[in-house]
Amino acid sequence: MVIIGGGPAGMTAGIYAARQKINTLLITKSFGGQMAKKAVDIENYPGFEKISGWELIQKFEKHLKQKKIKIEIDSVRKIKKIGQDFLVLTASRKQFQAKAVIVSSGADPRPLEVPGEKEFIGKGISYCVACDGPLFADKKVAVVGGGDAGFEAAISLSSFAKKIYILETGSQIKADDENQERAKKTGKIETITQIALKKIEGKDFVESVVYQDKSSKELKILKVQGVFVEIGSQPATSFVKGLVEFNEKDEIKVNPFTGETSTAGLFAAGDADDVPYKQIVIACGEGAKAALAVANYLGKL
Ligand SMILES: Cc1cc2nc3c(=O)[nH]c(=O)nc-3n(C[C@H](O)[C@H](O)[C@H](O)COP(=O)(O)OP(=O)(O)OC[C@H]3O[C@@H](n4cnc5c(N)ncnc54)[C@H](O)[C@@H]3O)c2cc1C
Repeated sequence: MVIIGGGPAGMTAGIYAARQKINTLLITKSFGGQMAKKAVDIENYPGFEKISGWELIQKFEKHLKQKKIKIEIDSVRKIKKIGQDFLVLTASRKQFQAKAVIVSSGADPRPLEVPGEKEFIGKGISYCVACDGPLFADKKVAVVGGGDAGFEAAISLSSFAKKIYILETGSQIKADDENQERAKKTGKIETITQIALKKIEGKDFVESVVYQDKSSKELKILKVQGVFVEIGSQPATSFVKGLVEFNEKDEIKVNPFTGETSTAGLFAAGDADDVPYKQIVIACGEGAKAALAVANYLGKL
């Protein structure tokens, strides 16, 4: 079988597949998935009261690589059905044939979709505080998104940046009280609600964000050198569009007992599917279930 994705769902599926002695190839763009984007420590993965995303990734990766499975670092572009088999096509023009596939490609950050966003990616716009936060030492930055992810990002940035604005489109902050309290304690974080982001401006790098104050309808300019985007995520499932049934959010519909999709032999696990509560431990559980269901499916074949 082929497993697509090297996040918690894919890596767990790989460990289980190896134990089931399934001839397995895992294809992933990189290891870790969204755990790498976690700005502050993970505090809800059993067995570790507090662990950084990077440390947990390394533990998963080490465990996986002890097992007998093949690994390709590549991006899957398309999956085709050929009779009972699947043909998995990658960005580097490789193709692999398999009797079963687990799609555990997770989710990507949701983009802002405002003018200036694409131009300034890597030039002040970032989707990963854990990766890029230290580059903004002594700078003023904006975090777009007033949920828990936005607050955690701002708290983490307060170790580097001199001022952080959290920009929230709604009139209410959605982050929990604990995160709001921690943000207040930094003395560096200011929250601005009811904004409609209009554009991101600059010459070579980000210099400002332009937003409309929804209550006064006034256009305002905020001088910042960095913008961190924390407005949620979208499933990375475009390469199976048309091959399996999606829900309205482009998540793959699965039988939650097994990870089976509407296409026989194609399974999904983790944030790419329509099971609610997107968490590491849940992604791992789904990866394990899908691998065991694949073993059952291949046995029957
Ligand atoms: C900022 C942030 C903080 C979070 N904090 C927590 C927390 O504290 N606790 C918790 O339990 N959960 C947390 N989560 C949620 C958790 O990280 C996810 O639920 C979990 O990572 C989902 O795992 P996954 O394996 O399904 O997908 P992902 O982690 O998204 O991994 C997907 C993998 O697939 C690969 N991939 C994608 N597309 C392709 C392709 N076309 N070809 C090949 N490979 C591909 C990616 O490179 C990646 O390796 C957080 C998420 C974010 C963004």
